[in-house]
Amino acid sequence: HYREKSMIVRHILDSKGRDVATIAPTASVQDAIQALGSRRVGALVVSDAGKAILGIISERDVVKLIAGSGVGALDQPVSAHMTARVVTCALDDTIQSVMERMTAGRFRHMPVSVDDKLAGIVSIGDVVKGRLDEMAQESQALRQYITN
Ligand code: AMP
Repeated sequence: HYREKSMIVRHILDSKGRDVATIAPTASVQDAIQALGSRRVGALVVSDAGKAILGIISERDVVKLIAGSGVGALDQPVSAHMTARVVTCALDDTIQSVMERMTAGRFRHMPVSVDDKLAGIVSIGDVVKGRLDEMAQESQALRQYITN
């Protein structure tokens, strides 16, 4: 009988690590741009010292602000331009379900929440890589199953 365990968020974090680029809500959008550039990421989780997830700010939010208000608005606080209602995932969520929620919500980042605290993040790139690895394993297992 052919059966395989689905890949879950925990597996992605085990291979890529649990470090997350964060920023304080009181920091300026200019600070956020610096952090996006130096950390080479597309989004920052807005968080406090206690690791609560207060929001998320991505390069898209920055572009929207500049397009609407110009670069003079970059000294405004992150809290004014972040998305406050963050969709998070759990360690045991399948990457399939994360992919579906990213597609439905039109965003490319999902913080991982454990006991309401930030425990990692997965990006659409991580999820696509995980899914490709999973499909390669699946076809390998199926090939073995039919040749044995
Ligand atoms: P992104 O695709 O990650 O650049 O984000 C696109 C938009 O969705 C931006 O306005 C983000 O603030 C927002 N966003 C990103 N990730 C999430 C998430 N996990 N939950 C809710 N909103 C998000």
